[in-house]
Amino acid sequence: MSYDKNNIFAKILRGEIPCKKVYENENVLAFHDINPQKKVHVLVIPKGEYVDLDDFNNNATDKEIVELNKAITHVSILLGAKNKGYRTLTNIGGDGGQEVPHLHFHIFAGEKIGKMVT
Ligand code: AMP
Repeated sequence: MSYDKNNIFAKILRGEIPCKKVYENENVLAFHDINPQKKVHVLVIPKGEYVDLDDFNNNATDKEIVELNKAITHVSILLGAKNKGYRTLTNIGGDGGQEVPHLHFHIFAGEKIGKMVT
């Protein structure tokens, strides 16, 4: 699947649509999900144009990969979730339930997250 430059997260990255920012660095942006599924629901995305985790792992630089992974831990600290626990996940493709075709890790926190898959 080729990258769709008009997906909603691309628009957020270009500043065309606002977001509730939690954290940003050279390669990563984290912001609150517009439709939170738990008390705390944040999305961590690379600034580069990657459709999903497979695209990212195949095509991103090592620096981008390290920074995105480290950002998840950093954001969990910012959210006060590191010691209490949290869940991170990424959906890939149709069967995975991915709606937005720009790689994003969900971070769920702030309460017991519950069953892993429903
Ligand atoms: P997924 O199903 O894994 O692709 O998740 C997409 C997520 O993006 C959903 O949890 C949506 O609520 C969230 N979302 C969609 N549009 C926005 C937006 N403009 N700002 C923040 N989150 C959004």
